[in-house]
Amino acid sequence: MLAALLVGSCSSDGGGDAAESSLDDLAVTGNEGTTAIDQPSLDDHLGNGPVDKLESDDAEGLAFMREEEKLAGDVYRALYEVWRLPIFDNIQAAEQTHTSAVESLLVRYDLADPALDRPAGDFENEALQNLYDELVARGSESTTEALAVGALIEELDISDLQARASTNPDIALVYANLERGSRNHLRAFTRQLDRNGLTYTPVHLTQDAFDDIVSTDTERGRGA
Ligand code: ZN
Ligand code: ZN
Repeated sequence: MLAALLVGSCSSDGGGDAAESSLDDLAVTGNEGTTAIDQPSLDDHLGNGPVDKLESDDAEGLAFMREEEKLAGDVYRALYEVWRLPIFDNIQAAEQTHTSAVESLLVRYDLADPALDRPAGDFENEALQNLYDELVARGSESTTEALAVGALIEELDISDLQARASTNPDIALVYANLERGSRNHLRAFTRQLDRNGLTYTPVHLTQDAFDDIVSTDTERGRGA
């Protein structure tokens, strides 16, 4: 299903199907599985051609995901300032590329950008504003709370992306990449919790869905 939606570009390793190849093409996996989106490659994929039809919930979904990806980056930056753990610095940089990818779609579909000119920690969506405030406060209590906040944001992101899945090919492509990034980030945060002797219990994903992700290896795109 997804393969049909994605532009089938060539594969370097010959392993995956068309969907896999497109994902590999856009994702750049770096330190500890940090997974960014390569904006020039995304721009190539989106092109300047006619836009596809939006489903009725797509505009709202994109506005929400634009701010949720911003929230991830803003929380990690705030927690990096508190704890100076490299994982927060690395992943916040990837989240910048995620929120920019959603911004590209808002521009392409001529939709209002809720994050336009908003500084870090400032959100139009009130629920996300409250979540930001709550998660920064919680993550500032200890390094392990900070890492748990990271895992929580990533599983929330996966769950929210799945809830907003679209048949629009542009959106499907970007969301598939964001979701893959979140799976890698979730693996990264839970790995660090493991090293601290802590087992993370999912809140937004089922235990099975969570176990499937963290028991498998980082999904590699192009090397950084
Ligand atoms: Zn993200
Ligand atoms: Zn992430």
